Amino acid sequence: MTADSEEIISNLNEINSALPEHVTLVAVSKTHPNEALEAAYKAGQRIFGENKVQELVDKEAALPKDIEWHLIGHLQRNKVKYIASFVHLIHAVDSEKLLKEINKRAAQEERVIKVLLQMHIAEESSKFGFDEPELMEFLNSGRITKFENILVMGLMGMATFTDDSHQVRKEFASLKNLFDRLKGAQFPAETFTTLSMGMSGDFQLAIEEGSTMVRVGSSIFGAREYQ
Ligand SMILES: *Cc1c(COP(=O)(O)O)cnc(C)c1O
Repeated sequence: MTADSEEIISNLNEINSALPEHVTLVAVSKTHPNEALEAAYKAGQRIFGENKVQELVDKEAALPKDIEWHLIGHLQRNKVKYIASFVHLIHAVDSEKLLKEINKRAAQEERVIKVLLQMHIAEESSKFGFDEPELMEFLNSGRITKFENILVMGLMGMATFTDDSHQVRKEFASLKNLFDRLKGAQFPAETFTTLSMGMSGDFQLAIEEGSTMVRVGSSIFGAREYQ
């Protein structure tokens, strides 16, 4: 159930006081009603993350214009057009085809869209995320340079869903290692600055392993109910 406004504000304050200054908090508000986001907004939160395009579009229309909207979930190519005019950062870009579509829609909007490349770091088999050889092949090909309306700000990853903190730490460390190797070599160090890793259950660990952006939902807004 969605937490009430007072709980949301106190959760936010608690998390913010535990975050180092260089770590950005994305408040993951998916499935929660606008009132919950408004409570967080009143407490000063301006960065919100959603994982469904329709929900993101509806909330953007209803809520204050100075919110930075992040799309954190898997994005289908045919839905890029609905968010291209306003999205601040797309976290889970995992294919060249998706980059191509984002670039096209960004050009139509005469803007540059910021993205993170999602890497597949978990042990679980998932169809989402680049693996390292695939990413390297793509980067070394130079094909990324034609996407003039995209700015790659960094990487994003999700660890295996497990209680084994050793495993989770290892996966975060490997993503940080890749991030460091790409920074300055494949992407300009001045703009390749964001490593999005860590959620409610593992953000402290992620920060210890070098995260600069955490995506926290249930620890702020309460548990989600799915139909
Ligand atoms: C839902 C979601 C989160 C937040 O999860 P919590 O465990 O509620 O903090 C973070 N990242 C992604 C990609 C998500 O879909």
